Amino acid sequence: MGGTPAMRYDAVIVGSGMAGLLAAHRLLRERPGAAALIVDAGPALDARNRYGTGEWGGYGGAGLFLGGRVYLGAATIPVLPPLSLPAGAHVVLEGKAYAERTREVNALLDRLGAHAPLRDTPNEGVTQAMERAAEAGLEYVTSYPARFLSIEERMGVLRALHDELGAAGVGFRFGAPMTAIARTVEGYRLTLGTAEAAASEDTAQSIETRALLLAPGRYGAEWLVRVAGELGAGVVPLAPAFGVRIEVPRAAYAPLTDVNPDPRLQRTLEDADAMVKTYATCPGGIVTAVERYGRLVASGVPLMGEERTPNTTFAVLVQPGVRGAAERWRGGEASAALLNERAPGRLVVQRLADMQAGRATMAAALAANSIAPTNRAAQPGALHDAYPDAYWRAFEDLLARIERLAPGVATGDTLLYGPAEERFWYFPTDERLQTTLPGLFVAGDGPGQSQGIVQAAVTGLLAGEGLARHLAG
Ligand SMILES: Cc1cc2nc3c(=O)[nH]c(=O)nc-3n(C[C@H](O)[C@H](O)[C@H](O)COP(=O)(O)OP(=O)(O)OC[C@H]3O[C@@H](n4cnc5c(N)ncnc54)[C@H](O)[C@@H]3O)c2cc1C
Repeated sequence: MGGTPAMRYDAVIVGSGMAGLLAAHRLLRERPGAAALIVDAGPALDARNRYGTGEWGGYGGAGLFLGGRVYLGAATIPVLPPLSLPAGAHVVLEGKAYAERTREVNALLDRLGAHAPLRDTPNEGVTQAMERAAEAGLEYVTSYPARFLSIEERMGVLRALHDELGAAGVGFRFGAPMTAIARTVEGYRLTLGTAEAAASEDTAQSIETRALLLAPGRYGAEWLVRVAGELGAGVVPLAPAFGVRIEVPRAAYAPLTDVNPDPRLQRTLEDADAMVKTYATCPGGIVTAVERYGRLVASGVPLMGEERTPNTTFAVLVQPGVRGAAERWRGGEASAALLNERAPGRLVVQRLADMQAGRATMAAALAANSIAPTNRAAQPGALHDAYPDAYWRAFEDLLARIERLAPGVATGDTLLYGPAEERFWYFPTDERLQTTLPGLFVAGDGPGQSQGIVQAAVTGLLAGEGLARHLAG
């Protein structure tokens, strides 16, 4: 494609988040002089808004740029829920071997300028919240030991990493979304999209590479699943997590959000092969409708300072295993399509009291509701008949337990928006994250290998070694 001749590399890495950056770092340590290029759809470090508002891509990706929490405890690669899994799904790194890799990542962060101390346990406020949650029969998810890097530390680390990669000869391209990928005899041919390329075929950039790592992060997951599938790599969908996003008075949820802005509360329903959990809490935030997975789904946006609303929103999702999705939770995966048909181009909103009474919410009742919807475009209507009964039982049980920690959360005026949905995939790989296609690797949050900075970094180290091994072969 395009008039410019193809550029040739040994390895191309898509995504300059922790996974992509650490993969390049490890590749160049293993194979000094390898011709490597990192491409990212977002901006270079200096062009990024330092406080990251509304911008989740670019050099540094989402994690180390936007959040400074460095969790150094146990995890597995890939991330697999403790539920029934698709046939053949298995962990490639865990236990002591994983811990050893986190130490490597931590040592690298130190060398690059991180100096925040390690905290073994949460602060008193979180510890008390965990105890109260346990009394209410809820698991309060925290991740310790951890370090909390200041914004200055994070920028320093990212800059030092950039300098080391540059000194090792790694090339960078920003504002360059990878669009098309094709297999060749020697590897892969890639097409880089740019603003100019969209306007003119002549400026579309073609790149040939022997090895390719796709590390596009959580927000690139849909793209990754599509291109990997088109190339013929194995991609296995996990059962979608489905549910509603709720909106409650900010003051009512404050006992939880004052100690942790995104408290994650959950219950494992072992007999039903599922977990029910709160997800992506936004204190003072708003509910928006976003296009995801070919559907319109409810999402939360945090707002700061004077922009904050009187409401707090969080999702209540059921994550079933493969068996649970086929049995107790059957139909949950179809809720989003049903609700999108019911209200084309809009979310559906229902008062909790109406959901419990099995009647649609009318516009007049919504207008008189004590909690004003932050998503004014949402259509008042019915959610109660769009989900399996088992969902509502799990939802009401979770909400009643949360009510014990934050009274005022489960009133009749609480608003429910649907649909809410999160999807995850399993990519079969070898222990160095090579997919079922030779020379094609996946790492980071996009393919579900990680959830967090350190875990993404560990996948980067593995993939970097995989790339080096492939080039040596
Ligand atoms: C607001 C926020 C705060 C967070 N805070 C923390 C925290 O404190 N601690 C923690 O452990 N985790 C945190 N996380 C999670 C963390 O961001 C991720 O786990 C981590 O960033 C995953 O790294 P990654 O390399 O897989 O992907 P990302 O960091 O998401 O990087 C992927 C990159 O790929 C690029 N990309 C995507 N598609 C394409 C394409 N087609 N072509 C070219 N480039 C593409 C994107 O622009 C992006 O720069 C936070 C996440 C968010 C959104």
